[in-house]
Formats: sequence, structure tokens, C-alpha cells
Amino acid sequence: MTAGGVPAAREDGALALHEASLVVDLHTDSLIAARGLGRDLSRRHRPPRGVRPWMLHADIPRLREGGVDAVFLGIVTHPWPRHAWERALARIRYCRYVVEKNSADLALAVSPDDIDEARRAGKIAVLIGVEGMHMLGGRLERIGELHALGARYITMAHFTSNRFAVSSADTRKKGVRLSELGCMAVEEMNRLGIMIDLAHTHTRLISEVCRRSEAPVMVSHGAVQALRPAFRNLSDDDVTAVASTGGVIGLIFATHWLVEKGEGATLDTVVDHADHVRRLVGVDHLALGSDWDGLIATPLGMRDAADLPELTRAFLRRGYSDDDVEKILGQNFMRAFREASR
Ligand SMILES: [Zn+2]
Repeated sequence: MTAGGVPAAREDGALALHEASLVVDLHTDSLIAARGLGRDLSRRHRPPRGVRPWMLHADIPRLREGGVDAVFLGIVTHPWPRHAWERALARIRYCRYVVEKNSADLALAVSPDDIDEARRAGKIAVLIGVEGMHMLGGRLERIGELHALGARYITMAHFTSNRFAVSSADTRKKGVRLSELGCMAVEEMNRLGIMIDLAHTHTRLISEVCRRSEAPVMVSHGAVQALRPAFRNLSDDDVTAVASTGGVIGLIFATHWLVEKGEGATLDTVVDHADHVRRLVGVDHLALGSDWDGLIATPLGMRDAADLPELTRAFLRRGYSDDDVEKILGQNFMRAFREASR
């Protein structure tokens, strides 16, 4: 037994379990620094000593060390429609370039089977997630264009409201409902088999989208209001609504959304947020949504992507079964993705 009363063998098994599991991260922002600062993702970057960096969390070597098998790279632009579409296209082209340039390590994936195949080939599957429908410039047909370019989720709103959906950062309380265009987007995404992401989306919209969607939805990176009341976090009703579609919530590692002022968050705090979701809807709706490289501070005990196995250890310490952990690390998402892309 260790000091905490946990059998030592079980502690040692954490790494083995982590390595044996399919690990999927629903949101990493590494393309921002790669494109903006010319950072080469094939190289291992060293965060400066002594500080908790807001970036420099992930690159290919450290994703591998962290046991990550598949990662959604976020397509992010400024949050207004003007020129956002052209920029989104440029970023998708860039993402595809990065994958091609690093084809010994990375493989573009657009389906659950692609993820499995990349893993068998010893590569990290890269998926494209588009963060915010403002990029569509109000044009419904662009959802199909994004799908054709390989995007497999679109977040309905980012930091600003758009013609499809209201952002969680929008302080309006009254008259917040899904626009007609938003309703059509839900139908179109269901039809195409591209996942609806409700991260950053206004709480009043979440239950409505979930009622309308015929496929599982996702919250690519989020935390819960019950533990950290903040506009960006999910209410209990939001969690229940997402689960009712068979969807998943990717646990965010950004300390700011985990605890007040972001101070003192540890990996146990991430597990606390998971625990709340588990109590409400069960373990089948949890996933990972790191937000690495998204200008965030990470919890104590997780300096960067290489430390991800420590989260598995934290779950086991809290009494989660091996099966539960495997579900959270990737299997729950795969179930939802399979169903949504059918
Ligand atoms: Zn985000």
C-alpha cells in the first residue's frame, strides 16, 4: 500500500493502463503557435523553467509521451465574421500541410476507423475541429464545404455571437434562442455526420440544440458550473441535455475554468469536475478536451501533454475502474463519433 491507502500495484498499473488505452483529446490549440510563431511541431519544446506557461504544452514528441492517439486540432480565427472564412480555409490548409509534412508521425483522420488505423500504424490521428460558426459568415452551405475539407466538428459559437448561435460570453439573458439558421445548421450537421460542438455556446441554446439534434453532440472542452460558476461552464441542465443525446463532454485542463481565479487547481480538481458529471449522468459522457496551447494555465501535476498519464493515475486513485478510465480517455468519444458519423 502507498501512503494514501491505494494498493501500490494499482498505482504502478496506471501507466500501463494509460498506454494500453485509446487516448483522444477533443481540443488542442497547437496550430495557433505553429502557424503564428513558426513553431515546428515535430520538435520537443521546453517550457521555460519556474513559470507555468500559457502555451508550449504540446508537440508531436510530447503528445507521444502523453500517450495521445488522436487529437482534434482547433481551427481558430478572430471571433468576427469579416475575413474569418478565408482565414479558416487558410488554417485548414495549414493543418493539412502540418500533417503531410509530419506524415511519419501524423495521419489525418475523418472517421473512427481512420483513428483506429492511425493507431495501428503507430501514428497520431489528427482531426480538424472548427471553433465558431462566425467563420461561416451566415452561409449554411459552408458547413458542407468544411466537412469536405475534413472538419469533423464545428463549435456553434466562440467568444462572440453569430447568425447561427449565441455565445456564452454574450451577457444577454432575454430572448436567447436558436435562430432559424441555427436550427438549419443542426439539421445539416446531422445530415452530413459532422459533430455539433457546444463549447463556448450560451446555456439557453444547449438544451434546445440537444432536443433538436438526432445525433450525439459534444462539448469539446468544458467544465461545470457547480464547482466553478462561470459563464463558460456547463450547468447541470446542460450536462443532462448533452448526455441525453448520447454525447460527451471533454474535460478542460484550463485552471481558470476549474477554480476561482485559476489558483491552486490540481489534477484532482479535474477529477472533481469529472465526478460531478459522473454523479449527474454517469461515466459514459466524459472525455478529454485539454485546450493545451490555448493560452491557458494547466493544473499542478500536469505541466504539459507529456504528463497526461498522471491524470489516469488521479482517476484510479479516486476509485475509477480501469473500464471507466478507458471510456473517459477515448472510448466514450469513439462511441459518440461512430454514432454521429453514421
Ligand atoms: Zn475554446
